Formats: sequence, structure tokens, C-alpha cells
Amino acid sequence: MKDEQGILFILSGPSGVGKGTVRKQLFEEDSELQYSISVTTRNPREGEQDGVDYFFKSRDQFEDMIEQNELIEYAEYVGNYYGTPKKYVEDTLKAGKDVFLEIEVQGALKVRDTFPHGVFIFLFPPSLDELKNRIINRGTESEELIRNRLLEAKKEIEMMDAYDYVVVNDEIDNAVRRIQSIVVSEHCKRERV
Ligand code: 5GP
Repeated sequence: MKDEQGILFILSGPSGVGKGTVRKQLFEEDSELQYSISVTTRNPREGEQDGVDYFFKSRDQFEDMIEQNELIEYAEYVGNYYGTPKKYVEDTLKAGKDVFLEIEVQGALKVRDTFPHGVFIFLFPPSLDELKNRIINRGTESEELIRNRLLEAKKEIEMMDAYDYVVVNDEIDNAVRRIQSIVVSEHCKRERV
């Protein structure tokens, strides 16, 4: 009994909820999942590398990719474009491997149109106050950006019902365990002779 196609997992949730941290720990522990590196027009943060954290592109290059239909989804988020490259995701799923996306909410909802069987996971903050603290304490953002990210986060939480699973990120370890359990159960669901 073997799944022919890989499963697409989409981890999403509000800015500051800890998606990036949870995703990094998940990948340190799990070599079976393949991470799809996104394309963005935002500037690299300190320590970020092109082709590892993101593919960093100019707006013109990004708009070319949109025109050439090279993205599964894209969104404009706090003044920058972010998108998921189509070829990598399709090829990897066809090769029978699971693909994992970590993206914001508008984009995640668009993925449903092309991948209705994708597994949508919403990472939820322990509380709104905690989310606010996390966004402020990140310390890499100007006051205006922090305000925009908080506004965005409130809108994003309203979209939670469109997801298959909600995972509370109270502790990173717990959130990672819950996501690993989702991966296992989704495989069990699809096991048929
Ligand atoms: P950051 O600038 O903090 O790396 O990311 C900002 C937001 O963009 C995060 O919520 C992150 O999950 C999201 N993001 C990263 N890659 C993609 C993508 O390919 N598509 C979409 N729609 N959002 C993305």
C-alpha cells in the first residue's frame, strides 16, 4: 500500500504566530517532507540566504513569473510580493514526496483552488496579546510595519474556519508534534489497497 502522489501540506496563520520557527524545527526533525522555497521581493534580513530562505527577486522579475504562470499562488503582503513556485511543487508531488508550504493566509486560500486535496493547517497564537508581543519583540520592523502586521493578523484570524486543522502554538515542541501527527494521519487516510 503506497500513496502514488505526495501530499501537499500548507501551514499558514497570522504574522508573528511563529510559522517560521515551527517550520524550521519540523524540518530539522523530519527529512521526509520537502520544503518549497518561496519567491519574494522583500529585502533579505540579516543572515538570510538566496535559494535557502527565499529566492529574492526584483518586482519586475516577480511580475514576469506571474505573467509566465510560474506561481501556484502569490500575495502582496505588507508592501512586498510573496509566491510559491509551481514547477517544484508539481514535480515533487508527482515523484511521490510530500511538499510543505509555509505561507500567509490570502495565498493559502488561493492554493485550495488548484489543490483541493491539500491539507490546510492554521497555526494559532495562544492569545492575541501574546501575538502582539511576538510581533513587537521580533525587533526587525519599524513601528509602521508592526502596526500593519497586527492589522493583517486580525484579518487573518477571521479566516481560520476555512482550514482543515487548527494547531495552537503554545510551545514550539508541542506545535511540531501536532503537525507531525497530522502528517501521519493524512497518510493513514489515504492508504488503500
Ligand atoms: P516574512 O517577510 O516574515 O518572511 O514573511 C511574511 C509572510 O509571508 C509570512 O506570513 C510568510 O508565511 C508569508 N510567505 C512566505 N512565503 C510565501 C509565499 O510563497 N506565498 C505567500 N502567499 N505567503 C508567503
